[in-house]
Amino acid sequence: MGIRVVARIRPQQSHELGKDVIVSTASNAESEQPTLVKIPNPKNESEDFTFQFSSVYDHTATQQQIFDNEVSPTIKHLFNGFDVTIFAYGSTGTGKTHTMRGGKTLAERGVIPRLLSGIYRRARKIVKDSERETTVEITLSYYEIYNDKVFDLFEAPEKRTLAGLPLRDNGCKTVVVGLTERPCESLKEFENLYDQANINRSTSATKLNAASSRSHAILGIRLAVTTGDEVRTSIASAIDLAGSEDNRRTQNGKERMVESASINKSLFTLAKCVEAISQKDARIPYRESKMTRILSLGQNNGLTVMILNLAPVRSFHLDTLSSLNFANRTKRIEVREIENEPVFKQCPRGVPTVSGSNIRRQPLR
Ligand code: ADP
Ligand code: MG
Repeated sequence: MGIRVVARIRPQQSHELGKDVIVSTASNAESEQPTLVKIPNPKNESEDFTFQFSSVYDHTATQQQIFDNEVSPTIKHLFNGFDVTIFAYGSTGTGKTHTMRGGKTLAERGVIPRLLSGIYRRARKIVKDSERETTVEITLSYYEIYNDKVFDLFEAPEKRTLAGLPLRDNGCKTVVVGLTERPCESLKEFENLYDQANINRSTSATKLNAASSRSHAILGIRLAVTTGDEVRTSIASAIDLAGSEDNRRTQNGKERMVESASINKSLFTLAKCVEAISQKDARIPYRESKMTRILSLGQNNGLTVMILNLAPVRSFHLDTLSSLNFANRTKRIEVREIENEPVFKQCPRGVPTVSGSNIRRQPLR
């Protein structure tokens, strides 16, 4: 099974009304729902390039639809011990943060708060319905990767060291050393933690003279389901990637060059990993950036959904095309479907119990 890659084209913003819309959707013969994105060849506008996706959403798609179709179905797999990774990829201003975090009103809520809400709902249900005594623990981590350094967003910005947090290989998984893990018992508690952390994100960005569009923000939701003496853990990762535009085209200050080089390096490494996996290369260059090391895309046991955010207007033409080309490679990734092995309660508490030893199970349907 491949990574599921879907495209979402945002509406025109008020200042873009009347501008030239160049991205359109189409359906192929087999399906009624659109699965194709069309964009003109910049070198020959009479010709269109066409890209195919698992699903395509146009400006009319609601936050609820994106969640119901793309994210909600992963929740049951998460409770069955599979890891879930949800990415938003795209240039700055294409709707990544809108898709992942969204706005304040219920209708505008993004994928992340809806995912948490769905997880708590299912947790309550299995605790209530299961015959054997079952408990569910949910723990959050939230960090950003900026200039290839990892910063804890649950830590107050003044505690942040410029060097960032180190990584360590723990068996077959890379972990961030010293990352805060916050137990979180309700959606309300999540909202408070997440809002505060997003304030930390912008405060520290200002301190570092950066902008949040130049860092990758990764929310980790760790689930531990205990039934009798068996504990099954899994992680959902929700990632708002740094803007994929090539800042070198527009910015040439020295600081921006450093940032740009590391953003481009991590997204380029992501693309290289994607390509290597899709071609079944023996060597996957995970180690070339921190983000790919931590996420180990394609080594992950479980499900990955990549939401490719696109702007419809001409001013994004080349960036849109390069996002579409990136996604074109991503969807050929083969993901191994491996369930996290249940571990037993004897494990000392606080010791990381996920992964390390995975067992092969039946493929997901
Ligand atoms: P990014 O995080 O990719 O830089 P944002 O999520 O900040 O982009 O989106 C840029 C602007 O477009 C924001 O004002 C956002 O509210 C708006 N926007 C993005 N997607 C949508 C959408 N699907 N519907 C309405 N407004 C959107
Ligand atoms: Mg953003």
